[in-house]
Amino acid sequence: MKARKPAWLKIKVLNGKDILFVEKTLLDLNLNSVCSAAKCPNRAECFDNRTATFMILGTKCTRGCRFCNILKDKPEEINLDEPKNIAKAVDLLKLKYVVITSVTRDDLVDGGAGHFYNVSKVIKDINPETSIELLIPDFKGEKSAIDKVLNSGASVINHNIETVEGLYPNIRIGADYQRSLNILKYIKDNNTNIVTKSGLILGMGEKEGDVITLLKDLRSVRCDLLTIGQYLPPSSNHLSVKKYITPLEFENWKQIALDMGFLGVSSGPFVRSSYNALDLTKQIEDG
Ligand code: SF4
Ligand code: SF4
Repeated sequence: MKARKPAWLKIKVLNGKDILFVEKTLLDLNLNSVCSAAKCPNRAECFDNRTATFMILGTKCTRGCRFCNILKDKPEEINLDEPKNIAKAVDLLKLKYVVITSVTRDDLVDGGAGHFYNVSKVIKDINPETSIELLIPDFKGEKSAIDKVLNSGASVINHNIETVEGLYPNIRIGADYQRSLNILKYIKDNNTNIVTKSGLILGMGEKEGDVITLLKDLRSVRCDLLTIGQYLPPSSNHLSVKKYITPLEFENWKQIALDMGFLGVSSGPFVRSSYNALDLTKQIEDG
């Protein structure tokens, strides 16, 4: 039987003028946001706070994770105006912290790492004070691709592990749990100044013991920051939700993760990997 959505998952509706401003800026500059593409439940709140996560390299993914709303289809041409237009948007929205992510582009030799690099560089040229977080795909584990993002000027590199190892073959076809851990390790091994971050979604059928193993695995590769959120199926064609995690359980996971040594943790039903990203990095300074 389908589990009923609990009361704590009611989304707050906001109608601020800043929402329209963010939407218009994205439209005018021909930019995509993961906020809209992934039907993120925090759109109203984030746009109202003038934040968004830019999604580069098109809107079609070469993979098709069963929990994700991004379309699996033939990828688009790279938009060469994207770096300068994102830099313009960062300026217009007055962003002091920006998150850049992408679809997975297994069709490109470098997986799109060069484009990530260009976007970061142009943002920094125009907005030197803005901090950049890159939420990267796995680039099939290619070290030369990871080197590009390592040298892009980003201060935080985020790579989502998404779920426990046992669920990968069923819901993350094309991804590899160990490869994702190796990417986070490689980043830390090669640049200790870069903050590493990862995120997972609960409610997709994972067992608690496997989540503990996942958290330990992330700490074993010295992952600094962590986000934990609730899986909410984008449509009835997607993987069904297996469990609604209570706010108290999210608090418990946060405490467990902090006790394991994560430097900052965001954990809650609506937490997504870029949710309040600046505040999460501040937990490092505050801790
Ligand atoms: Fe979505 Fe990323 Fe999976 Fe593509 S690889 S379907 S963007 S989660
Ligand atoms: Fe966009 Fe991230 Fe906010 Fe969701 S949480 S609306 S993806 S910035």
